[in-house]
Amino acid sequence: MTGGVRDRVTTDGVTLERVSEHAWWAQCEGYQTTAVVSGTAALLLDPLSGGRGPRIRDAVRSVLGADVTAVAYSHAHRDHAGDAAELVGTARGEVAVLATRDCAARLPRLRGTVAPTRLLDDGAVVDFHGIAVEACVVGGHTVDSTWFRLPEEGVLHLIDLVHPGQAEFDGFGMAPDLGDYRAALRRALEVDWQVLTAGHGLPGTRADVTLVLDYLADLEAAVAGVLDARPPQQFAGAASHNYGRIEARVAAVQEDVVAALTPRWGALPGFGEAAPSHVKRMFAHLVWFG
Ligand SMILES: [Zn+2]
Repeated sequence: MTGGVRDRVTTDGVTLERVSEHAWWAQCEGYQTTAVVSGTAALLLDPLSGGRGPRIRDAVRSVLGADVTAVAYSHAHRDHAGDAAELVGTARGEVAVLATRDCAARLPRLRGTVAPTRLLDDGAVVDFHGIAVEACVVGGHTVDSTWFRLPEEGVLHLIDLVHPGQAEFDGFGMAPDLGDYRAALRRALEVDWQVLTAGHGLPGTRADVTLVLDYLADLEAAVAGVLDARPPQQFAGAASHNYGRIEARVAAVQEDVVAALTPRWGALPGFGEAAPSHVKRMFAHLVWFG
């Protein structure tokens, strides 16, 4: 790291914020990646998409004096992975591409990705020019969701499960199963780290993970209570088709639960927009999946 580099700098729409000795939270247009910098080499945790990855690559080069020599996929979703081909294809030198076997198996379905050059076993620890990077398949967002943890830096790169500084995204990031989602969050709290780089939102802390678990507990209790108070029979005449009766019940539960949660959670940015989706997701979990 060169002397005189500021701890937070914005250039050409990219913000770099130092979160540990070698790790930088890098944000561009609502998306975030983590740049792990060792001397003049940088590992980008998630290539991102829509040109954000190359813009962050350029900012890392101009501000930190480091070239991206490796990228890693946290999970096979196009919005976090789609710029991989451009990052590799326009690089000055060779770029290593890292993914866990679970993630690599799902990558071919995505546009813009390139195949990993190094497959990681679950739990593997990679040495990036002297910096340890642990890859752990934790699920919760997608079945292949992998966290990258820098144990000596106290940084956890865990994507799309927590949105520090705001309410969780639609349906908890469209988590396929709230049981798996909650298990992934709890697992994150079982290991040592201090700073969360989460893909969206602000740099986070352990308290941000705890906050989501608290919110889930409040949400589950509120939805369970309202489900009892609003049984299916109440909506028997709401529509001719059963789907319509279910939707009428969901809408009523959403209204009651959002009102119940608002005193504690209403000030969280994005709550008003996202909370109905959280209720619907918990409704599905408790009635059909849980
Ligand atoms: Zn995702």
